Amino acid sequence: MGYVNKTIECDIVKYLNAETRKVLLIFDDVLQSDIMCKLTNSKIISTPISEIGKNYNAYINIIDIYQDCKYVYGMGGGAAIDIAKYIAKMLDVPYATVPTVLSNNSFATNKGVLLKDGTEVTVDCAEPDKILLDKEYLATKAQYNLLGYADILAMETALYDWQIACKNNNEVINKPALELATKTLNLTIEYLSNTANQFNNIDLLYNNLGVTGDLTIAMGCSRACSGVSHIFAKKLETLISVPHGIAVAIGILIGLTLQKRDITTLLNIFNRLGYYKMFPKFKITKEIILDVARNLQPRINRYTILNEVNISDRIDEIKSTIQKIFDLI
Ligand SMILES: [Zn+2]
Repeated sequence: MGYVNKTIECDIVKYLNAETRKVLLIFDDVLQSDIMCKLTNSKIISTPISEIGKNYNAYINIIDIYQDCKYVYGMGGGAAIDIAKYIAKMLDVPYATVPTVLSNNSFATNKGVLLKDGTEVTVDCAEPDKILLDKEYLATKAQYNLLGYADILAMETALYDWQIACKNNNEVINKPALELATKTLNLTIEYLSNTANQFNNIDLLYNNLGVTGDLTIAMGCSRACSGVSHIFAKKLETLISVPHGIAVAIGILIGLTLQKRDITTLLNIFNRLGYYKMFPKFKITKEIILDVARNLQPRINRYTILNEVNISDRIDEIKSTIQKIFDLI
């Protein structure tokens, strides 16, 4: 069942207030205080991510508390949804995602990024059986939504990584998946290249992020959507608090450089999306990008360009890409 069939267009507050089962709602307390103050349904046991934490080793100790919840909702951006779908899998109950920003594709996938001993790791999670889509609410979150484009554009480097893995590491191309991914990527690049500065397109973002979620579920891994970009992003996210979209965008540009491909189109798109302007706020410096890039390691079970390059031979090219980014700030 793809994301289209799971989608329920609704007013989130009305929908949740009408829930009749005893359910667990994990929410982002930074993003979601506006919705939480309107929820009056006593059937909902709500737990903020600040309380439950992202350290999945600790969940085993709290799972008993939620044993009688027959359904889980995850509401927010990536973090709350990742926790919710992992706990739903542990409880062996179905769950729904309630994306309140479209800043990444977590709402549509069955993979989550959680912490293990202080390091981000990707874990298998439950697949959402519903996605509540409140377009009116999402439209108010323009700045966050724009970050979601990075998870779609990550296919630019991921599909290349996949192709070299087929050539040099005996992986197989899933043709329908490759075609769908390529079409979705190209549509997004065309839109972002040709639209005049109004990118808060909820339908396009929701649908294209939904496709990346479907590809991840169908293939059993995120091969088509994440490669070197996400290996970089995880490292940077472990070091500093930075939105996933920004970390992935930098990872895409470093990845393109290592793949010896032209960065111009995506360099300019990320500029138009306003990503670089956010660098000072998140203390992103040339030095930290170079440091993460210099120490990139191939990931086990994910063949990428990192398996084929010697980073120390490519430092000058990486420095040049970093300089091009900072020239635009
Ligand atoms: Zn991502």
